[in-house]
Amino acid sequence: MALTNCPDCGNQVSTSAAMCPHCGHPIARDGERITTQQTSQRIKALQALAVLLIALGLIGLYFDSVFGIPAAAVGIVLYLAARLAGWWRHG
Ligand SMILES: [Zn+2]
Repeated sequence: MALTNCPDCGNQVSTSAAMCPHCGHPIARDGERITTQQTSQRIKALQALAVLLIALGLIGLYFDSVFGIPAAAVGIVLYLAARLAGWWRHG
């Protein structure tokens, strides 16, 4: 059983404990913390890609390109999916 220091009160706490027995501070397991950060980064990357596609689509429409409408449509769908994923994660 590994021990870690509580980030709040500094006492030693088991890494398998859900929270510190001394002060009640929740003990985040490293794996969980990294997963949450990676997930939100992936959603942000998806949103950035979606905005880029919408911008490309609008540029395509401006120049009367056949790629304009599909690119903008995919971008809008991707953006909505990213928003939905963010809402699903964080409520
Ligand atoms: Zn504590």
